[in-house]
Amino acid sequence: MRNQDGVITKNELGMAICKICNEVLYTLPTNRLKKFYVVCNNEECIGKTREGDTK
Ligand SMILES: [Zn+2]
Repeated sequence: MRNQDGVITKNELGMAICKICNEVLYTLPTNRLKKFYVVCNNEECIGKTREGDTK
C-alpha cells in the first residue's frame, strides 16, 4: 500500500481580475470565492483607467 499525497489542493478562491481585459492576473488563498478587480500592467488597460479625454 502506498500513500500518494501528490495532489495538494489549495483554497485559492480569490481571483484578481483586470477590470479592463478581464484577465485573471493571480489567485489568492482565501476561504471564500472572492473577486478583486484590479488593473494589469498592460498599457492599454492602464490608459483606459486614467481619467481624461478618450479619443
Ligand atoms: Zn488588463
